[in-house]
Amino acid sequence: MSKTFNAFQMAQQQFDQVADLLDLDHGTRELLRNPMREFHFLIPVRMDDGSVQVFRGFRVQHNDARGPSKGGIRFHPHETVDTVRALATWMTWKCAVVDIPLGGGKGGVICDPHNLSLGEQERIARGWVRQISKVIGPLKDVPAPDVMTNGQHMLWMMDEYETIHGGHFPGLITGKPVGMGGSLGRTEATGYGVVYTIREALQTMGMEIKGSLASAQGFGNVSQYAVELFQELGGTVVAVSSWDQHDQVAYTFRRMSGVNVAELRSISDRFGGIDKEKAAALGYERLEANAWIEQEVDVLIPAALENQINADTVNRIHPRVKLIAEGANGPTTPEADEVIKARGIYVIPDFLANAGGVTCSYFEQVQSNMNYYWSREEVLTKLDDKMTAAFQAVHALSVEKELYQRDAAYVISISRVADASKMRGWV
Ligand code: NAD
Repeated sequence: MSKTFNAFQMAQQQFDQVADLLDLDHGTRELLRNPMREFHFLIPVRMDDGSVQVFRGFRVQHNDARGPSKGGIRFHPHETVDTVRALATWMTWKCAVVDIPLGGGKGGVICDPHNLSLGEQERIARGWVRQISKVIGPLKDVPAPDVMTNGQHMLWMMDEYETIHGGHFPGLITGKPVGMGGSLGRTEATGYGVVYTIREALQTMGMEIKGSLASAQGFGNVSQYAVELFQELGGTVVAVSSWDQHDQVAYTFRRMSGVNVAELRSISDRFGGIDKEKAAALGYERLEANAWIEQEVDVLIPAALENQINADTVNRIHPRVKLIAEGANGPTTPEADEVIKARGIYVIPDFLANAGGVTCSYFEQVQSNMNYYWSREEVLTKLDDKMTAAFQAVHALSVEKELYQRDAAYVISISRVADASKMRGWV
């Protein structure tokens, strides 16, 4: 067995701990700790130079007891089936914690879009659908964009599916562009969802966003919209960080009076990398990569990568910090969790804090199936309601049972999926 980090093993370990806590029976454990279905296939593609290249594709459906599987499709050169299995498992828990009627799935193709023309990417996307079109669909399994795929890939996939099945099926897939079946509010949904949960968590401590200070890691889709709404609600974000492609390091950019999202966006590349010279000219201090974590603030928002709050960095968290809202997936390691728990810092775990994205994808699917689209205000109001209700349920359980917030969220998700599997008579 390889000693390298294996995301699926970690997902199973997390599950096993909560299964013990819930005293789940053997059959339920066996069902929920493994994906129910996996599809592995080859996608032969005619390349621009006339040669044929064969790509490996996957779709993993972890559990669909509560509704059709839901989850993204990655195009990535280092994709592995175990990563896809882990992500599919986490999608099941994420959909369950926000109580949307969907299960968990994930897919991928081993390829590097940096080295593929748009035509080649289109043929891979269409080829992926041809191999899997019998087992996906609006009532079976609903894919979405993920790493290195976007709305254009989703439209090619939808078009291929509609050609095969004859008809219009916009509910097949989410993340479509607005006007082509996409939902208003989707772009900002994940970041805004993070802030809705921050608002609720601060309230439980007798605080509010107005007058609070925050620091965020990353300046991509999640971070930009989280920072934007946090400041709109009267808070101040003193620092954000981003990856510098030229220097191959990350930097933290700080302005004590608060960062300006529109200004930073205007000097960022499409990957969320902030131009350091232009930032300096605008009066931002440039600090080292991990400086975001040691700022004297009330709230930390890790919103870049996994494994960022770890044994090396956790002790740099300033004593003032009361709340960590995990915008990224898996930003905190189990060792760091122990320190955070001991210090009594409140954690809004990733699969709750960043569930705004999948919740809005669910809204997109509902609108697509109805072929009737809501206003942005309607989408965001419904999103706020869902995120607030999910937060309150997790908070109440953590108080009642004296559980760490991450464990409370897992208990709710796993119980819901276990109950659905029982009610169906599967276990
Ligand atoms: P993104 O690619 O838009 O942005 C990532 C940001 O992180 C960029 O600003 C980049 O410069 C920065 N970054 C990269 N490496 C860094 C480093 N070492 N140090 C500091 N900053 C670094 O990504 P995103 O969509 O904002 O996603 C961020 C995280 O949130 C990921 O973990 C993702 O899985 C998770 N997430 C995203 C969504 C969504 O809807 N976009 C939903 C749920 C979870």
